Amino acid sequence: MKTSNLGYPRIGKSREWKRTLEAFWANTITKKEFHAQMKTRRLEHLQAQSEKGIDLVPTGDFSYYDHVLDTAAMFGLVPERFAYDGGPVPLSTYFAMARGEKGAQACEMTKWFDTNYHYIVPELEQCAPKLVDNKPLRDFLEAKRELGLHTKPVILGPFTFVTLAKGYQPEQFASLLQRFIPVYQQMLQELAAAGATIVQIDEPALVLDITKEEMALFTATYKEITQHVPELALILQSYFEAVTHYQELIALPVAGFGLDFVDGLEANLAAIQAYGFPADKILAAGVIDGRNIWRSDLEKSVDLLKQLSDIIPFERQMIQPSSSLLHVPVSVRQETELDPTIKASLAFCDEKLDELTLLKDVISGAASKEKLAAHQQSYDELIRSDWRKKQEPDAVRAKRTSSFQTRYELQQQKWQLPLLPTTTIGSFPQTKEIRNIRAQWRKNECSTADYQARIQAEIQKWIAIQEEIGLDVFVHGEFERNDMVEFFGEKLAGFTFSKNGWVQSYGSRCVKPPIIYGNVAYMGPMTVEETVYAQSLTSAPVKGMLTGPVTILNWSFVRNDIPKQEVAFQIAAALLQEVQALEQAGITMIQVDEPALREGLPLKKAKRNDYLHWAVEAFRRSTSAIADTTQIHTHMCYSDFADIIEAIDALDADVISIETSRSHAELISAFEHNVYDKGIGLGVYDIHSPQIPEVGEMLALIERALTVLPPSLFWVNPDCGLKTRTEAETVAALTNMVKAAKAARAKM
Ligand code: GLN
Ligand code: ZN
Repeated sequence: MKTSNLGYPRIGKSREWKRTLEAFWANTITKKEFHAQMKTRRLEHLQAQSEKGIDLVPTGDFSYYDHVLDTAAMFGLVPERFAYDGGPVPLSTYFAMARGEKGAQACEMTKWFDTNYHYIVPELEQCAPKLVDNKPLRDFLEAKRELGLHTKPVILGPFTFVTLAKGYQPEQFASLLQRFIPVYQQMLQELAAAGATIVQIDEPALVLDITKEEMALFTATYKEITQHVPELALILQSYFEAVTHYQELIALPVAGFGLDFVDGLEANLAAIQAYGFPADKILAAGVIDGRNIWRSDLEKSVDLLKQLSDIIPFERQMIQPSSSLLHVPVSVRQETELDPTIKASLAFCDEKLDELTLLKDVISGAASKEKLAAHQQSYDELIRSDWRKKQEPDAVRAKRTSSFQTRYELQQQKWQLPLLPTTTIGSFPQTKEIRNIRAQWRKNECSTADYQARIQAEIQKWIAIQEEIGLDVFVHGEFERNDMVEFFGEKLAGFTFSKNGWVQSYGSRCVKPPIIYGNVAYMGPMTVEETVYAQSLTSAPVKGMLTGPVTILNWSFVRNDIPKQEVAFQIAAALLQEVQALEQAGITMIQVDEPALREGLPLKKAKRNDYLHWAVEAFRRSTSAIADTTQIHTHMCYSDFADIIEAIDALDADVISIETSRSHAELISAFEHNVYDKGIGLGVYDIHSPQIPEVGEMLALIERALTVLPPSLFWVNPDCGLKTRTEAETVAALTNMVKAAKAARAKM
C-alpha cells in the first residue's frame, strides 16, 4: 500500500506565498526575486510532504495564482484582449488574465465546485490549444534535479477543463474537447520521456450530473489520450462526491481511479460492491477528509480499507486525502492559543499527512496498536466533551403568525414608507481609521469606553449623512465588524478562532474560517447596542443587521460529528434570540443576510432539495417567532437564482435585496416567469466599481424592473454593502440613487 497526496496548500505556513505575490505586484521585488522565492516555497512544500513519509508527492499543483489558469496558460489559451502572440505566456500576461490590466478586463472568476476556492474561468472563443509550456514537466524535473525526488505530476484533465470554461455553446463541447487530445498526448509523452511513471489527472467533473452521452465522450477522449503512453500509469482522479458513471469509468484503459470516500463514501462504496473493481487496476482511496480540519476516526478508516480489501487487495490500494489539501490550513502546530482539547482534535494539512502514514503503518503492522489508540483518544476527547453534549431540541417556530399579505398591510400602516423606498445593504466605508480603532481596542491599546465613543461618532456621522441624502430606511453602518461571520462567531458559544488557519480563497486572498467545535448557543446581545444608538439619533427606521444561520455555517469549518443541519438549527436558535432582543429594544426592521445560501447547494441535483429544505427551515427558525409588524429583510449577493427561486420565496422574508446591477436583464426575466410576491430590492448599481452611477441609468433600471414587478413591492438599493467604497463615492452614488427613486415616483 502506498500513500499519496493530491495537492498541498500553496500559501505556506505563514502565508509567505501571499506576501511574495503581493510584493511582486507592488513592484517591491524584482521578477528574479519573485521566481527565487516561489521556487523556495515550491521545494519546501515538496520536502515537507516527503518528510511526512508520503510515497507519492504531487508536483504541478503549486501555482502562482490558480491551477485552472495554469492549464489555460500552458496551452496558450489567452483571450484576445490581452496582447499575446504565442510562446510561453509571459508572467505579466498571466497576472493580467487573473487581475485585469489597463484596457483589458480580468477573466471571470468563480467557485471551484462546492468549495470556497475560486478559479479563473477559461475563455474558449478562439480555442487552438498548443503546448506552449509543459509546466507539469518543468515541475517534475525541478523536483528531481533539486531534491532527487521522483514525484507524481498532477494535471487538470481536459473534460473538466472544458466543462469549467466558457465562450462556447453546449453543442460545441465535443469538438472542443477533441482539440485538446493532441496537446494532452504531447504533454504526457514528454512526461513519460522524462521518466515520470505515475501521473494524476484530475477530473472532478466526473462527480457532476453528467449524461451518458457526456460520459461516452469522456471515454472516447481518454481512449485516445492514453494510446501513446502505455508506460505511464495514469490515475483518473475524482473528488468532492461519488462518480456518476462508475461502470463506464472503470472500463477505461488507465492504471487506476481515485475516488472520494469522504464526501462520496456511500455511493462510491456501493458502486464498488455492486460492480466490482478491475483486477489489474489501482484504487486511490480518498479516506482522509481533504476539506475539513478535524482528526480522522482512523479506526473507522482501517475498517473501511479492510472492507475494500475484499475486492481490492491492499497492494493495489493507495491511500490519500479525499481531495487536494489546498482547502485546509497548513499546520496545527502554530496554534498556540487554542484550547488543548480542541487543538488535539484538529488536523490541518500536515497532520492529515501524518494520519495517512499512520494509517498505512497500522495496516502493514508497522505501527503499534498503542499508536492508533493514542490518535483515537485525542479524536474521542472532543467528541465526548461537554461542548458537544447531545441537546434536546427546543420547541421551535418556523412559521410566522400571519401570511405575507397580512403582514404587509400592518407593516405599511406602521411605517408609512413612500413607494419605492430607498435603503442600503448594511455596511458603510470601512476606512483605515475605523480598522485602526478596532485593532487598537483588540490589542488593549484603547479603552472600551474610548472605542465605543469612536464607533458611536462614526455612526452619528453616517446617520447625519443618510438624513442629508434623504434615504428612507437607514443602517448603522457595521463599523464595529471585522467580518460578517467572525463578528457573530466571537459572540456565540461553540466557536473558536485559529491564529493561522488560513486557506486560499482567490489569488493571494486568503480567508480564516471560524471553527465551530461545539454546541452553538446565545450568550447575550450582539448588535443591540449599536443599532439602538443609531436609532436614537433619527426618526427614520434603522434596520438591524445580522448574518443568517446558513451563511455562518457555510463560511465556517463545522464540527462533523452531527449533521450540518443540526448545527444550522443551533445557530438559528441563537440568532432568533438576537432578533427578539432587537425587537424588544424597538428595532423592528431586521435584515438577516444570507449571501452564502446558494453556495451550499450540493453538487448533485438529487441532494439539492434536501439542503434547500433545511437551509430555508434554519432561516425561518431565526426569523419567525416575532410580531407581524416586525419586518424581516434578507440579502443575497448573486443573481443566478432562477433555479432556487422557490427556496428564496419559502424564506418568507418580507423584503429581499439581491445583487443585480451586473445582470439586470437576466434577473428581470427570471421574475417574469416566476411569481415572487414579496418585497424586493433589485440592486440598481454595482458597488464593486468606483464609478458613480448616473441618475438616468438607475432610473432606467427601476422602470424596466417595474414592467414586471408591482411598484408596491419594489425597493431601491445598491447591490451589496458599501464597505469597500470611499465616503465620497458612497455619498455621490447614494445621492443619485435617491434622485432616481424620486424621479421614478414622480412619474407614477
Ligand atoms: N450587510 C452586509 C454588508 O453590507 C452584507 C454583505 C454581503 O452581502 N456579503 O456588508
Ligand atoms: Zn451582498
